[in-house]
Amino acid sequence: MDVRRRSSLKQAATKGKTMAEDQYNDQIFNKATDKKVVDTVVPLPMGISNGVFFTVFFSVVYFLLIRWREKIRTSTPLHVVTMSEMAAIVLFVASFIYLLGFFGMSFVQATPYSDDEEEELEVDETEMVRKEDTRATPCGAALDCESDVVVKQVVKKELVFVPTDTTTVTEEDEEIIKSVVSGKTPSYSLETKLGDCKRAAFIRRVALERITGKSLDGLPLEGLDYESILGQCCEMPVGYVQIPVGVCGPMLLNGKEFSVPMATTEGCLVASTNRGFKAIYASGGATAILLKDGMTRAPVVRFGTAKRAADLKFFLEEPLNFDTLASVFNKSSRFGRLQKIQCAIAGKNLYIRFTCSTGDAMGMNMVSKGVQNVLEYLQADFPDMDVIGISGNYCSDKKPAAVNWIEGRGKSVVCEAIIKEDVVKKVLKTNVASLVELNMLKNLTGSAMAGALGGFNAHASNIVSAVYLATGQDPAQNIESSHCITMMEAVNDGKDLHVSVTMPSIEVGTVGGGTQLASQAACLNLLGVKGANRESPGTNARQLAKVVAGSVLAGELSLLSAIAAGQLVNSHMKYNRSQKDLTTKA
Ligand code: ADP
Repeated sequence: MDVRRRSSLKQAATKGKTMAEDQYNDQIFNKATDKKVVDTVVPLPMGISNGVFFTVFFSVVYFLLIRWREKIRTSTPLHVVTMSEMAAIVLFVASFIYLLGFFGMSFVQATPYSDDEEEELEVDETEMVRKEDTRATPCGAALDCESDVVVKQVVKKELVFVPTDTTTVTEEDEEIIKSVVSGKTPSYSLETKLGDCKRAAFIRRVALERITGKSLDGLPLEGLDYESILGQCCEMPVGYVQIPVGVCGPMLLNGKEFSVPMATTEGCLVASTNRGFKAIYASGGATAILLKDGMTRAPVVRFGTAKRAADLKFFLEEPLNFDTLASVFNKSSRFGRLQKIQCAIAGKNLYIRFTCSTGDAMGMNMVSKGVQNVLEYLQADFPDMDVIGISGNYCSDKKPAAVNWIEGRGKSVVCEAIIKEDVVKKVLKTNVASLVELNMLKNLTGSAMAGALGGFNAHASNIVSAVYLATGQDPAQNIESSHCITMMEAVNDGKDLHVSVTMPSIEVGTVGGGTQLASQAACLNLLGVKGANRESPGTNARQLAKVVAGSVLAGELSLLSAIAAGQLVNSHMKYNRSQKDLTTKA
């Protein structure tokens, strides 16, 4: 692109957005889509069909009002209707539904909370901001707006052009790309305006390359279902990052075999975990026990005095009030069931930690919705309560915090195995006494010296992150999910090794979030825990948490053995260091 053209585009981008520009944008899109934005009900351009329905609506309203006045004058009962009145009523209902469907949706979207369970608000720490943004924006700008979906469906039918690779830019696309580059068309609105998520990603990507002057070659575009991430997993996509998935096992856990998928770019990790599984298998398998299952959310509320904050604390912690609060909380979902309320005070501020079961969902949305219900209910008895935030960090989500380490969050699991003396020697290439000593000095004493919080392990987060990425979990939750204390002890007269991992806050789900994406769902399927468990809701997610703990057990065994045997550096040099010339050529 020549310099003059680039600078004129930049100028256009920095100009304020005027009405004329908006019209220009609309023109571009109408042109680009060949006036394909048509109405779902009548096969006419949208403007004409809206006009028709408006006219019908107001005409029948006028007619019915006249008839009503006539009936009052002549004392005719209202329910006696003529054929023409009946036809007018039918037309009234039809045009009302059409207009409500078309114009009423942005109002519905702007309503803070919907009762519909399937439309639960995304309110985990980071996503809260995003959802608030989309609720605040008008329908046309919101990526996950219901009415966008209507347009999307219609346009999808009409648009036949689907770009196959980044080198194919049609005339229509070229115009839209230019409009995005100049700033006239916001990049975030492409999905809404085009109604074709893949094409939107393609156009955004080409526009981005032109604006930055940097190639995205190597970042794949093809092979992802862009519809499936809309409004749920990622905004403004331009492609996806590939992470290799390795498989290890079989893991023998509670008498069942599992092949465990791990998404990672760290050489050695899968091989090492596999060695741990081999040692566990040869020793008769591991046992995992679920100790607790409850997701938490803790809003912060403020009062005028510490005394009032304490009043609410006593009210919430009074056992006699629990049933009422639980019934208010539980209205939010078929699966969310309040288990516990725990309070902490800081001056006039009260932090209320709600814990609830969440079925097969990881549960942040569910618990947040229940908390919202309870706060609304409490406002009647505590009108001076000022809700500062639905999350007050006492939850605590995606941050290292003692509250999770001590109280647990999500699933709390302990997993153990007894590794036979000969297996320690033959498979792990070390001996029991060395492992026990290393664990004590590294994982317990060393971590104590470092002031660790939940980090009394060798590398739990390595395994947690890899399994989370493969199975569509929230990778940011690896922080508290990796809290783990690894214990090792010589048993059976000092011959065998008892090894255990205790993990108080494994936050996993098999429905919602990234679990529904095709590749992540395939990995869940491999583990036999894909989707919701219909017979016994929650069983799949709990099983997944046990698999995570079992895999961490294997990872701990293998890495500690490598360190005890002095193999760590050698194996990493072999498997984790590329021999290629990595000098950047660009
Ligand atoms: P999260 O609360 O983990 O953020 P989502 O709200 O995205 O999860 O997904 C949970 C959704 O799945 C809810 O709408 C819930 O009604 C639905 N659902 C269906 N079956 C189950 C199940 N067995 N357990 C939990 N949720 C389920």
